[in-house]
Order: sequence, then C-alpha cells, then structure tokens
Amino acid sequence: MARKKNSVINFLTQDVRSASETKELAVMLRCLNILYMVYFIFISVQVAVLEHYFFSLVLIFAIGILTGSFICTYENKTNLALILFILTIISAMSWLTICVGYNKNYHWIMLNTIPLVFFNPRLRMTLKMLYSEIIAAFALTVSMISHAHPVLRTAPSGLTAMIIVVNLIAFTGSTIIISYFFSSKFRQSEEKIQQYTDNLKRMASVDALTGLYNRRHMNEHLKEMADASVRSGKSFCIAIGDVDLFKSINDTYGHDTGDYVLVTISTLFQDFMKDYGVASRWGGEEFLFSFRSGNPADCYSKLEALRKQIAAYNFSFKDHQFHVSMTFGLEEFNEALGIETTISRADAKLYTGKENGRNQVVR
Ligand code: GH3
Ligand code: MG
Ligand code: MG
Repeated sequence: MARKKNSVINFLTQDVRSASETKELAVMLRCLNILYMVYFIFISVQVAVLEHYFFSLVLIFAIGILTGSFICTYENKTNLALILFILTIISAMSWLTICVGYNKNYHWIMLNTIPLVFFNPRLRMTLKMLYSEIIAAFALTVSMISHAHPVLRTAPSGLTAMIIVVNLIAFTGSTIIISYFFSSKFRQSEEKIQQYTDNLKRMASVDALTGLYNRRHMNEHLKEMADASVRSGKSFCIAIGDVDLFKSINDTYGHDTGDYVLVTISTLFQDFMKDYGVASRWGGEEFLFSFRSGNPADCYSKLEALRKQIAAYNFSFKDHQFHVSMTFGLEEFNEALGIETTISRADAKLYTGKENGRNQVVR
C-alpha cells in the first residue's frame, strides 16, 4: 500500500525535463488536472440527470482536454498545459453558469485560475493583474447573464444541493492544492536564502586554505571572551604561534609544500584545541589560540605538548620528507591590559622565543 502511494507520488512529482520549465507549476497542474477530471465526471452525470445529454458529451470532451494538459506537463510544455487548463475551466464554468444557473456557484471556480497565472515567474506582473481583472469581470458578467435569463433546465432542489456541494468541494480542493504549492515554493525560497546566508557567514569567518577561523572572526571571538571575562571575573589565555623558518620550506620545496604544511598543522591544531579553546589563522604562517583556561601554567603545558607533537610529526609531501617546528608566545588576559595589549605581549614573547633559538613556548 505504502509502495503504491510512493509510486503515485513519484509519478506526480516527476521532474520536468527542461531547465526553463518550472517544476512546481507542472506538478501543481498535474494535481489540478486530476481533481478537475474527477469533478467533470461528477458534473457530466449531474448534467445528464438534467437531460443536457449533449452538454454531458461536451464535458467528456473537456476531460479529454484536461488529459492533454496533464500529458503536456510531462512533455516540457507546461505553458501549453496551463493555457489548456485555464481555457477548459473558464469555458466549461461560464457555460455551466449560463445553462444550469448562477446560484450553483460554478463561476467562482473560474477565479481559481488567477493564482495559477501568478505562479508563472516569466509572465510580467502587469499581464497577471490584467488577467485577474478580466477574469473577475468575465465571471461577474456570466453570472449576471445567468441571473437575467431563465436557465435551460431547472434542477430539483436535491440535485441543486448536490451540485453546490460538489462545486464547493472542487473549489476548496483546488484552493488547497494551489495554496500548498505556493507555500512550499515560499518555504523553498526561505530555505535557499538561509543556506546562502549561512554559507556567506561561514565564508566570511573561515580561512579558505586551512579551514581555521580567520583573523576577522577571531577578533570578534576575542572581544566576546574579553566581555565575558570582565562580567565573570575569570581570565583566559591567548597564544600566538609562528612556524619556524617557514620561508625556507617554501624556498626549498616549493610554495605548494608550504601550503601543505599550513593545512596539516591546522588539522593538528583543530584536533588539539577542540577541548581547550579555539585556533585561528592570524595571518601567513602565524596562528592565534584562545584558551578557555585562565591558568597560564596549565596553558603552557598544553602548548608544550602541541609544540612537541608538531616537532615530532613526519611531514611528507610529494618526494619530500621533513620536520617543522613552531615557536609560541603565551599571555594571560586581564581587564586592565585589554585585548590588544594582551596580543602584543604574546607577540613580543613569540619574538623572544625566536631570538632564543625557536621551537619553544615563552610565557
Ligand atoms: P621565522 O622563523 O623567523 O618565523 O622565519 P620565517 O621564514 O618563518 O619568517 P618569514 O616571515 O621570513 O617568512 C614567512 C613566509 O611565509 C613568507 C611568506 O611567503 C610565507 N607565507 C605566508 N603565507 C603563506 C601561504 O599561505 N602559503 C605559503 N606557502 N607561504 C606563505
Ligand atoms: Mg615564521
Ligand atoms: Mg611570521
């Protein structure tokens, strides 16, 4: 049963083959065509009861046109399908209004073609508005003609009630179908905008080469940490790390090997820092780390472990195998220093480490 339901849904939601066609419009037209085919079968029986036999046959012919419109949606002819659908509904409803009576509410169904035209993104807004006004005026005219002239056959009250109920069901059904597709299109656009926004935010905060947070994002993050620290009274530590003699890696093995080193150490940073804080690419081969811990001794031992891990790592790229070391400067944040001075102090310690022979953590 569930498989059958799925195959019906798959058949109805089958994609349009051409990129210039709107899938939602095609699928919506398929659903509307099915609804109105069933509706026309009911109506043709009701009309036959009223002895409008010829009209009954014409309604069967209209079902044929709706079938044609249904097929067109699978043949890259959604616009033709829309035109066939609209023409069939309008001619059948105006003619039924005149023959069976305005009080059966057939003319309301014509108005349901208005949102269909609005669904087509390629049609100009002025044309859509013009179409709406023409259809509204036409529906009004047809109902007035029906009002002014006696209907060809008067339906008994039981049949009249049944016709009104069937018309109401068809009108409500098509309104629900159209509303459903409008809302799902709206939801899709919302989701797309959200995805683009998330992507843009990510691109603006992440370094393209290493995947670490970039300097812009890190500055925001440090500001947040500083504010939280001032509020809570708890300090935190930052460290700046710089790859030792990185220029010579580039010069010896090539720029792509230099890039490989930056990507590889960034993966190590991310793994290492995930329980302690955040790592970012501060610029070139310099990295800034924020530790949640405000204990410099604790951060020092962590950085020492990281430094040793990098120094022991076997870097291997193309035919080259080599080792890399890093020097770090560590500083504790406090409110009196402020974030900028904390960073410059960490930087000064980094340069002390460079002067003292590199591959070390200075606190
Ligand atoms: P020190 O130990 O004193 O830090 O020496 P160093 O050679 O690392 O320092 P220096 O500042 O002289 O060189 C840094 C080099 O990093 C220069 C620059 O071309 C290179 N660099 C910066 N960004 C990138 C990058 O994205 N990829 C690669 N491959 N190299 C980069
Ligand atoms: Mg360097
Ligand atoms: Mg540097």
